[in-house]
Amino acid sequence: MEMLTVRQKERYARQLLLPEVGEKGQKKLLAAKVLLVGAGGLGSPVAYYLAAAGVGTIGIIDGDKVSLSNLQRQILHTTKDLGSFKVDSARKTLLQLNPEIKVVTYPYYATADNILQILSDYDFVIDCCDNLATRYLVNDAAVLSGKTFIHGSIMGFQGQAAVFSAPEGPCYRCIFPQSTASAAKRPIGVMGITPGVIGSIQAAEALKIILGVGSTLLGQLLIIDALELDFMKAKIEKNPQCAVCGDNPTITELRAENYQ
Ligand SMILES: [Zn+2]
Repeated sequence: MEMLTVRQKERYARQLLLPEVGEKGQKKLLAAKVLLVGAGGLGSPVAYYLAAAGVGTIGIIDGDKVSLSNLQRQILHTTKDLGSFKVDSARKTLLQLNPEIKVVTYPYYATADNILQILSDYDFVIDCCDNLATRYLVNDAAVLSGKTFIHGSIMGFQGQAAVFSAPEGPCYRCIFPQSTASAAKRPIGVMGITPGVIGSIQAAEALKIILGVGSTLLGQLLIIDALELDFMKAKIEKNPQCAVCGDNPTITELRAENYQ
């Protein structure tokens, strides 16, 4: 692998000092390809920190456009970006921060028809979406592809994060085994700090996985309450009856009707 350039040595100087990173780790970061599903409240801090750290290829899939009510938490986007695709706005911001990386954009939503193909170009996937149907879709795609899935979600001042690793599991369905994902899509109140904390934790897990250091949230669900500032970790186990990663899976391919 190539040597780091003088500019790279300067840009990443403070993390190169860490024995867990060093030049070897930095090259791993530069070679990594990570897919983010969602460029909103969670996708913003995740993408920011991965880009700043020099994760070489960041893919972002999101069909939504920037609206004024997004800006109090979706900090990749600015008032100037109103009406733009979030992925375009995200790409612009991230390349301003770090022009050395590659940001690949998918200006449409993840579906049963496109997610496996897109995911095949990446090492693993990060859940930055805001709805259950997409979360189950991405979880199932990750299991079927044998790829790690870094989950994050928020509700009000509460948030949760976990790392799911296929095929050994557990997966998101092991702990939340609904077969269909029909949740009302009404907006829930949130302040930007909650996705900020959860997204930063997801980015930390992603960087550790790329570097192969530390221990991750694999097999654990982190639950935080930002209002009372409580952090709790619960052990999670693979469910042998899980519909996608269990002993006799019923989900062996992605069908659009399962993710409405
Ligand atoms: Zn499972």
